[in-house]
Amino acid sequence: MNRDWLKDTKSEYDVIVIGSGLAGLTCANMLAKGGHSILLLEHHYNLGGLATWFKRKGGHIFDISLHGFPVGMIKTCRKYWNPEIADSIVQLKGIRLDNPQFSLTTTYDSDDFKRVMQEHFKIPRETIDNFVSALRGMNFYDDQTMTTRELFENFFPGRHDIVRMIMEPITYANGSTLDDPAITYGIVFSNFLNKGVYTFQGGTDKIIGMMRAELIKNGVDVRTKCLVGKIGIEDKKIAGVVANGKMIKGKAVVSNGNLLSTIHKLVGDENFSESFIEEAKKVRLNNSSCQVYMGIKKGEKIDYIGDLLFTSEAEKFDSEELRSKNTTSRTFSIYYPQTRPGSDMYSIVASSNANYNDWANLSEEKYRASKEELIQRTLDALEKYVPKIRDKVDYLEAATPKTFQRYTLHLSGASFGTKFEGLKISMGLPKEILGLFHTGSVGIIMSGWLGAANYGVIVANDVDKFLS
Ligand SMILES: Cc1cc2nc3c(=O)[nH]c(=O)nc-3n(C[C@H](O)[C@H](O)[C@H](O)COP(=O)(O)OP(=O)(O)OC[C@H]3O[C@@H](n4cnc5c(N)ncnc54)[C@H](O)[C@@H]3O)c2cc1C
Repeated sequence: MNRDWLKDTKSEYDVIVIGSGLAGLTCANMLAKGGHSILLLEHHYNLGGLATWFKRKGGHIFDISLHGFPVGMIKTCRKYWNPEIADSIVQLKGIRLDNPQFSLTTTYDSDDFKRVMQEHFKIPRETIDNFVSALRGMNFYDDQTMTTRELFENFFPGRHDIVRMIMEPITYANGSTLDDPAITYGIVFSNFLNKGVYTFQGGTDKIIGMMRAELIKNGVDVRTKCLVGKIGIEDKKIAGVVANGKMIKGKAVVSNGNLLSTIHKLVGDENFSESFIEEAKKVRLNNSSCQVYMGIKKGEKIDYIGDLLFTSEAEKFDSEELRSKNTTSRTFSIYYPQTRPGSDMYSIVASSNANYNDWANLSEEKYRASKEELIQRTLDALEKYVPKIRDKVDYLEAATPKTFQRYTLHLSGASFGTKFEGLKISMGLPKEILGLFHTGSVGIIMSGWLGAANYGVIVANDVDKFLS
């Protein structure tokens, strides 16, 4: 008999949160702490959304999106989760970039960035300081017409090597390109530059486990394996949701699912004004990703080659090349045993940006062959840094945009939500339908672990105001 994953739910909640990405989790937690009754519905068997992990035979655990986030995550976790979670966040010291234009290692914090720009790229200190100040001064309400390309050209005209140094890691972090608004770049880059790149010691399984415990402590009704198929609307107001075929009433609904599927599928265009739908149709999804997971045999070791390794054979930074199916550009995240203190296992995860359409329509046979090719090309590239890598691995697996779509339900497997224009639409939902909110990766700024969690906080405040 099928288990009833919604057994004993109440007939009505103050807020129903759809999806347990970092935005959904943080929003649910804050609202519960504020005294509201919350139902959290997640279609997957794990919480976390893209902040997830999986286990494989041989003792391997693979983290999907724990490559690194800005220091701000410490404050966010301390304030909106608990000190124990915040205290496990540690800095990654070795950020390495290796490509035909340059090869260097940095901590990518403000001081070291200035050192690298001066010593390696021979940029006068004054120009670097002006660039950093310009970025720090950027905020959401600024002029949005300048592109990142124009911003770079203003400070470093003709310097393709510098463009690569300052752009490539951000493109991996949120899929942004040189043609996106400069403020999206400025806000995200400043966040990283503040104090470098951080990770959660203990792994994604540990942080999400701690978050689940905190949610339950605060009274959130947490349900996995519950797919929301519809958001119910009556007279332009939220009525509730249909999950696993069951109607549950709610005063407010926060969708942490993909913005466009929330609008067009879960709610339905007929419930919005025509002008809103017209604007929503202009929202572009961000790109997707591919990953290769490499499990190192028990007992094997890997010498330290950096924590995050950005590699490429492309002559210069090129967002199209970065997403193409045969890209040579990828990030290796090396998980040494200290990632999970007490463990003696190593694993390596290679990530690249990808176009959904390059993968979506392949025949089953071609799809399998393309995944195998991706694995072999990744191993070839890694051989340069870890000689005899093929003798050291005993587990290999690849994920494609189709994989990301299947597990997160993001349209086209979008890894970082939508482009910039999605933010206005996401924030505009409550003006269209009373009690309807969205939180989660949108607009580049609100994506990544920190952006998503912080957007969860912003939306929780809005929902709280609405309820009271
Ligand atoms: C390969 C890769 C690497 C990344 N690396 C980093 C990194 O190193 N650092 C960083 O900061 N960020 C990274 N990111 C981005 C980061 O992981 C995401 O931006 C962030 O985790 C997204 O959180 P979110 O709240 O938007 O929701 P998501 O993680 O997208 O989760 C949405 C959740 O909603 C659920 N859901 C959707 N629809 C329904 C429905 N109808 N019913 C029930 N449940 C539903 C989904 O199952 C999912 O759990 C990476 C992303 C990818 C793909």
